[in-house]
Amino acid sequence: MNLNKDQKIEYIWKAIKKAYPKKTLVFSDGLPSSKIMIIGEAPGQDEEKQGKPFVGRAGRLLNATLETLDWKRSDFYISNIVKYRPQDQYGKTATPTPQEIEKFRPAIEKEIEIVNPGLVVVLGRIAMAGLGIEGTMSENHGRVIEIKNRKVLIVYHPAAILRNPNWEPIFREDLAKIKKLV
Ligand code: URA
Repeated sequence: MNLNKDQKIEYIWKAIKKAYPKKTLVFSDGLPSSKIMIIGEAPGQDEEKQGKPFVGRAGRLLNATLETLDWKRSDFYISNIVKYRPQDQYGKTATPTPQEIEKFRPAIEKEIEIVNPGLVVVLGRIAMAGLGIEGTMSENHGRVIEIKNRKVLIVYHPAAILRNPNWEPIFREDLAKIKKLV
């Protein structure tokens, strides 16, 4: 069977739905034919409501920063490591557990393989962990590494910038590297 990229992405999406029948899932946004793939952590409440990644406050900051660099959201294929909103025992949005990250690792690896982007932009510590990258954000942000012959740019998560607005110039500077890498 010769499936195109959209069909292959649809196929893993269906497999994930089957594996998590009780969860509200949020998959990717953008075209699988994009040359650049952005990977975040997991959806939050806004994303869960709208069924799209990065549509809440962090997403708006990401979009706005990319626009200042002459990119449009539609230039990218955007996805998350964990495809549902991780919750604590009270239903509050939580950080994905190492087990959740591990469970979704094969799916994100497959997704990258299908989209086959020239550049992967990893947003934050959890996305780093999801791709098996070690180390802290402060020592890794702005770095470009290679994973399986593919360039990976490490950038702070926009939620970290919302918490530390004085890091905004660093965030912009790191995202500005995309231009030189594609
Ligand atoms: N944060 C993420 O990591 N992903 C989203 O989709 C939204 C916020």
